[in-house]
Amino acid sequence: MRLILLGPPGAGKGTQAVVLSEILMIPHISTGDIFRANIKGGTPLGLLAKSYIDAGKLVPDDVTVDIVGSRLKEDDCDNGFIMDGFPRTIPQAELFDRMLEERGEKIDAVINIDADDSVIIRRLSGRRMCHCGRTYHVENSPPKVEGICDACGGKLFIRDDDREETIRERLRTYHEQTSPLIDYYRKKGIILNFDGTKPIEVTTREILESLKK
Ligand SMILES: [Zn+2]
Repeated sequence: MRLILLGPPGAGKGTQAVVLSEILMIPHISTGDIFRANIKGGTPLGLLAKSYIDAGKLVPDDVTVDIVGSRLKEDDCDNGFIMDGFPRTIPQAELFDRMLEERGEKIDAVINIDADDSVIIRRLSGRRMCHCGRTYHVENSPPKVEGICDACGGKLFIRDDDREETIRERLRTYHEQTSPLIDYYRKKGIILNFDGTKPIEVTTREILESLKK
C-alpha cells in the first residue's frame, strides 16, 4: 500500500506513522531523515542538495523527488510506504506521480489528519520542560507544584518551539503549503480525512477501516 500522510504539527501524524508502519508492514519514510542520510553519506544527490542548503536556497523540486526516488528503490519499499513530509508542493506531487507511474505504481490513499488550530495551540503551548529531561503539560500532566519539576526541583521552562507565536507561524505556513495539495489529491479522489483530536488508538482504527474499503 502506498500512502502519503498529511497533518499539521501537533495533530499526531508522527505517532500514526510509526503505528501504521508496524501494522501495515511498510516503511515509514520521513523525508527529513532521508535528506540527512544522503547528506551524511555524501551521495551525489546528498551533495547536490547540500550545495543548495549551504547557499541558503531551497532544494529544487526535481532534486527532492530524485532523493525520494532513490529511497524507493530499496527492497523494503516493494510492498509500499508511508510518505511523511513529502510532497510539499504541487510540482513535487506531479513529479512524484509521474515517477510512480513509470514504476507502474500509484498512490493508494492520502491520509489527512487534521485538528483545529486552537486545539493544536493548546496542546503544544502547554508543554513545559525541565533541564533534567522531564517534560510536563499544564493540563494533561502538570507538576505537583506549578513551574517546578517533581523529580529534581528545577524550574520548568517553555521551549522556543512551543511558544504560541512560533506555533501560530508554523501552522500558518503549514496551511498555506498544504491546502493546494489537499485540493490536488481531492480531485484524484484519494484523500481520506481524520480527526487528530481523537485518541490515537481511535484514529488508528478509523484509518485502518477506511483503508480496507
Ligand atoms: Zn527536573
